[in-house]
Amino acid sequence: MRALITGGAGFIGSHLAEALLAEGHRVVAIDDLSTGSEDNIRHLFDRPNFQFVLETITNEGVMDRLVSECDIVFHLAAAVGVELIVRDPVHTIETNVLGGSIVLRIANRYRRKVILASTSEIYGKSTDVPFREDGDGVMGPTTHSRWAYANSKAMDEFLALAYHKQRGLPVVICRFFNTIGPRQTGRYGMVVPRFVRQALRGEPLTVYGDGQQSRCFADVADIVQAVIRLAAHPGAVGQVFNLGNTEEITILDLARLVIRLTGSQSLIVLVPYDQAYEPGFEDMRRRVPDISRAAALIGFRPSHSLEDTLCRIIAYYRKRECA
Ligand code: UDP
Repeated sequence: MRALITGGAGFIGSHLAEALLAEGHRVVAIDDLSTGSEDNIRHLFDRPNFQFVLETITNEGVMDRLVSECDIVFHLAAAVGVELIVRDPVHTIETNVLGGSIVLRIANRYRRKVILASTSEIYGKSTDVPFREDGDGVMGPTTHSRWAYANSKAMDEFLALAYHKQRGLPVVICRFFNTIGPRQTGRYGMVVPRFVRQALRGEPLTVYGDGQQSRCFADVADIVQAVIRLAAHPGAVGQVFNLGNTEEITILDLARLVIRLTGSQSLIVLVPYDQAYEPGFEDMRRRVPDISRAAALIGFRPSHSLEDTLCRIIAYYRKRECA
């Protein structure tokens, strides 16, 4: 199989590229390196089955050629990270909505299957946990930039499902919940790489709000395996799947766990949301996926515990800091 990965130099994209190559597939990764990094894929450059294209997905000429030459498109290129979204909402909306529309239009031209990476942000402020794929999303007002991300990804999902319904394009939507692993950067706000770096440097761990908000953190290795299985399963076409872990932890407990696993002397400081993001910022208290749909279809069951994954991330950062 020849796979095109948009956002292939990103955190999840680079792990997906590795996993597809390991299964003997050919991989072309396109990335404009706006949030991805060549460091994530440099070790793949000498693999004969791997090609990297440094370009934005909004370059329709290049995308037309790349899509025509592949069998399947994994569309992962997107503006990610709550901090980045709040800081640069124009980039977020344009990348996600324009990019998604271009990818789907060209995939439809060549009748290529599209695996669309979406997000648990789609559920917004819903308190109906665990979130089921057919549950309601509860969005905040347009004056709060955070909601631009959820709405832009919702538009991608609507468009993908519309192409499927109206034009018969094979699409599969994967809603990623909080996903962690080596290579994830804390630059755009993600909590785990931030806490690990802070702990390793002996700096205070910055817990936003009261720290009682909770998340479930999935290992990127579990997530990419699920994506590959869903891509190969004919029964997944036209459907939406939650992909994540169901083990829940508060952010304050996460900070304590990172301090314990690193053996750090760091303290924990509580930072009000207004200071961390923007005035009026709204966070979700809980975010737990219902993964029974993916479990029923492909036997999806996360295999890594949070502690194991954190230990791998800590080892990764230790090696980098020493390098
Ligand atoms: N968070 C935190 N300190 C940080 C970064 C994030 O306490 O330095 C919190 C954030 O407010 C949220 C949770 O950790 O409640 C997860 O944040 P992340 O940006 O990783 O993902 P989100 O679930 O918000 O998409």
